[in-house]
Amino acid sequence: MKLQNYLENDWIEGKGEGRALVNPVTGQEIARADATGLDLAAAAEFARVTGGAALRGLSFAERGAVLKAVADVLAANRDRYVEIARLNSGNTAVDASIDIDGGIGTLKYYAFLAKTLGEATTLIEEGRDQLGREPVFFAQHLWTSRPGVAVQINAFNFPSWGMWEKVAVAMLAGVPSLAKPATATALLSYEMMRDVVAAGVLPEGSLSLVCGSGEGLLAVVGPMDSIAFTGSAETGRMILNDPHVTASGCRVTIEADSVNATILGADAAPGTPVFDLAVREVVKALSVKAGQLCTNIRRIFVPAEHAEGFGAAVAAKMAALVVGDPADEATRVGPLINAAQKAEALSKIAKLRAECSVLAEAPLGDVAPDAGFVAPMLLLCDDPMAAQAVHDIEVFGPVATLLPYADLDQAIGLAVKAEGSLALSLFSNDPAVQDAVIMGLAPWHGRVLVVDEEVGKNHTGHSIVMPQCTHGGPGRAGGGEELGGLRGLRFHMQRSAIQGGPTLLERLQGAARMGGL
Ligand code: NAP
Repeated sequence: MKLQNYLENDWIEGKGEGRALVNPVTGQEIARADATGLDLAAAAEFARVTGGAALRGLSFAERGAVLKAVADVLAANRDRYVEIARLNSGNTAVDASIDIDGGIGTLKYYAFLAKTLGEATTLIEEGRDQLGREPVFFAQHLWTSRPGVAVQINAFNFPSWGMWEKVAVAMLAGVPSLAKPATATALLSYEMMRDVVAAGVLPEGSLSLVCGSGEGLLAVVGPMDSIAFTGSAETGRMILNDPHVTASGCRVTIEADSVNATILGADAAPGTPVFDLAVREVVKALSVKAGQLCTNIRRIFVPAEHAEGFGAAVAAKMAALVVGDPADEATRVGPLINAAQKAEALSKIAKLRAECSVLAEAPLGDVAPDAGFVAPMLLLCDDPMAAQAVHDIEVFGPVATLLPYADLDQAIGLAVKAEGSLALSLFSNDPAVQDAVIMGLAPWHGRVLVVDEEVGKNHTGHSIVMPQCTHGGPGRAGGGEELGGLRGLRFHMQRSAIQGGPTLLERLQGAARMGGL
């Protein structure tokens, strides 16, 4: 089976051999993806002209209705997608739900927001500034849809959520998308797109799909276009430094890898509810999606006096983790998505082991040697102040490192050594610890989760990205921002200061008001 590309309102096959997509449990090929020889410039222009006009011709509420219709098509086929996610991504049912239901939920959330914006097509910020001496000349900020195409390049670990979270925001903003899933796991994105196109719910040109290499995509962007990239820091840097991208003046946002952390406060001692909550979250980090989440906990900062107890509590739960074929209902940890990812994870683990020891390792069981399985592993870094690799290297698998710390200032300083991350969590009931961590580490993170007894188990998790919240992180994490409710629309819209008289500005009030932006 060769995946086709959906361009200019048509399914088109690439002209090359393509690259193999495999079942990570067996290592066997299940499909090929190829985008060789496609006219991407024509496809981008079709999206800009036809898709852009179609979307800008709809009100926010109407765009929201499209998002809701897409979500309904996906929901109707959900069980089939779970099977595809198992086949091509090695997902357990829980893993698949995070990707598939996460995508559907994000589409529905933006469909709901769209309703609140009603029949308007542009957004206007609350409040205007008087610029002259007399009250006849003011400025007010207006957001209009950019007449370009949003090129969306995704990572392999979220073929559903990654695609739909980007498409939802662009579509609501009135901008067509050209989505490019990572080749290795593109089958799910492809099948979803097939269903959505067949259902006839998309305005013409509003969504295109490239399955296969993205080479050539960077060359087609123009000044009103954007590139939203998710993937490794290395590819992100390459995109940012691409001469055509730089010269085009297009917008670029980068969601790259990061070495996220969790911190236990000194009050989170063994036997306390907060300690148990932290253990639960770390075990999730070592099992869910086999650790292949960009936001996953990689470093665990524990007060030195609790380190032994914490390691033992996590190790006890790890012993019960069943690693194996996700087709088996008992399996808690599936494989990495292919043998290449496994090899990369193992080589990074070897680098970490130069400064860390193995505290616990889950049993691997009877798995095929060519498959992507990596045993969940808890490492211990005894000297986090001297260590560097543990703060630099992201093992994209079920691996995390415990780092004992002497005092909170030291823990905060060590967390910063990752140079900017997507997500941080803190487990503590102590207001002084909570405030110090928030003030010290919020500038270094796109999201900070604070778990105390008041929150208990009623939180969405360290790794889960919610569409209401900003997603992205500073520094090494790429400096990007996605989602975050209506603020996410800003990437696809132009914010212009409209200077003029009160009559003109009153007329513009027909646009939806954006309170507090
Ligand atoms: P990757 O190798 O950097 O690839 C990411 C995407 O870039 C893929 O779709 C890839 O296409 C594409 N690409 C590569 N070269 C390109 C080019 N010249 N032009 C256009 N597109 C190009 O990353 P990955 O291995 O898929 O993903 C794993 C990494 O992503 C991890 O480090 C993880 O932390 C990070 N990640 C970050 C986030 C976040 O939100 N911050 C979310 C998920 C994952 P092909 O697949 O066809 O090569």
